[in-house]
Amino acid sequence: MNVHDSEKVIGTLLHEGYRQVETVEEADLILYNTCSIRDKAEQKVFHRLADYKKLQARGKKFGVLGCVAQQEGEKIFERAPHVSLVCGSASYRKLPEMLVQLEAGQLAAQVEAATFRAARVEAGNCEAEERETEKLVRITGLDDRQTDECFETEFTARTNPYRGYITIIEGCDKFCSYCVVPFTRGKERSRTAESVLAEARQMADLGYSEIQLLGQNVNSYKDPTSDLRKKKTFAELLAAVGEVPGIRRVRFTTSHPRDFGRDIVHAIDAVPTLCDHVHLPVQSGSTRVLDAMQRLYNREQYLERIAWIKAAKRDISITSDMIVGFPGETEADFDETLSLLDEVGYDSVFTFKYSPRPNTPSLSLEDAIPDEEKARRLEVVMARQREIQIERYKKHIGMTIEVMVEGYNASRGQWVGRTSQNKTLNFTAGVRDDATRGSEARSTSEAESTSKAAGKSARSTQATSRATDRSARSTQATSAAADCGPRVGTYASVRVTGSFPNSLVGELVV
Ligand code: SAM
Ligand code: SF4
Repeated sequence: MNVHDSEKVIGTLLHEGYRQVETVEEADLILYNTCSIRDKAEQKVFHRLADYKKLQARGKKFGVLGCVAQQEGEKIFERAPHVSLVCGSASYRKLPEMLVQLEAGQLAAQVEAATFRAARVEAGNCEAEERETEKLVRITGLDDRQTDECFETEFTARTNPYRGYITIIEGCDKFCSYCVVPFTRGKERSRTAESVLAEARQMADLGYSEIQLLGQNVNSYKDPTSDLRKKKTFAELLAAVGEVPGIRRVRFTTSHPRDFGRDIVHAIDAVPTLCDHVHLPVQSGSTRVLDAMQRLYNREQYLERIAWIKAAKRDISITSDMIVGFPGETEADFDETLSLLDEVGYDSVFTFKYSPRPNTPSLSLEDAIPDEEKARRLEVVMARQREIQIERYKKHIGMTIEVMVEGYNASRGQWVGRTSQNKTLNFTAGVRDDATRGSEARSTSEAESTSKAAGKSARSTQATSRATDRSARSTQATSAAADCGPRVGTYASVRVTGSFPNSLVGELVV
């Protein structure tokens, strides 16, 4: 979500006349988009801000955006006094206005400092010296939880020219006992289906063929329109986006198990463009722990939803998130998490050690499981899941699967594709001409650095701006090299010949 927030912020600021630059050194204003979901992520923010301090002497201004901004508010000015602007995730729509205030305030401060400097020289008044220094202007945008407004912009600067995100719902009202999101991103608010569909059509017109619908809980979507003829449920919206001409793949993340209805599975079965993938975070296999986490479902209800997905006509891949070491998680609870892994057979699981977060109800519970024990449980879950994935990925051997081509890896001599189930499928595409190899090697190293930069963009709009430029360059370079192979952004059929725990390998079918 942060990546897409950065894309929206960048697009909006470009429209306002700001220019993106390649490096922090070139920038006058450095906006840093932040995440506070776990303590580690938050600590990184303050380390990075400390690194930026040395640039202050060169007249640069700093702004902190996102969840750390919302959570820490004006305390950021105390911990990082060189920061001039703090804008929480729920206040992005006000950012251009805040930047105007920042510039105006800065100008006024410069004039004031110059006036005092002149007065001091004229009167030989040394007492004015302290006031000579330009005052640091401070601007804050910290909407409270109650904001009803979404950050809608038609100027999103998407980093990938073939697949892009659309936010359909912002904020969260679930209040899981461990989670900061309801405090940092405000209350749950949905966009109208009409506005989402207009954005999807606009993307299709621009040549996008894959859309990913985004939200903390996409399936808690509630169309706010009062026009009953246009009002849609989440499953109806999903199907409608899948029916937009030109759109070939639709993904959605994240789904909350409590709000996961059978109608979503029916939509996937009915609309071929909807991808064969559901990300359904469980967090724990123990009903006792789920209850303490305030997850609003128990193990049986979760497994019922899994049964609906498995009963689909299509082979839908299931992935999840899990937290280990939640306060009070016993060995028996942990065993239930392991048995759930076996029972569901996920294709991938993101696992996290429980991290106590400010404001959350679980902060009052004793975090008595030592970090080494959390780390051990994490290792055990990951090892078990790896075994499961080895078996699950093997099942694709011999199948012919459609992939979206994402790039070319010169060092391995393989194209990189993504399946509808969201699996990476690396493949060879026949004999290649030596003359094109040089340009491919170049394009590939750029494509790799693009994905790295795109990863960083979750944390920094500065990094995102770099990613945008590199993405454009790598696309050109990759397409120049693609004469004897499939083009990036197109779809290809690949026969799977081998498997690993996290990827498949195969050959292009021509
Ligand atoms: N809304 C989604 C849901 O309910 O499943 C999850 C969104 S949350 C931003 C992403 C993941 O971060 C969660 O699924 C959870 O596993 C993890 N997470 C959130 N708070 C955490 C915490 N305090 N400690 C460890 N992991 C946490
Ligand atoms: Fe956090 Fe729970 Fe909301 Fe997901 S549903 S964002 S885990 S509070």
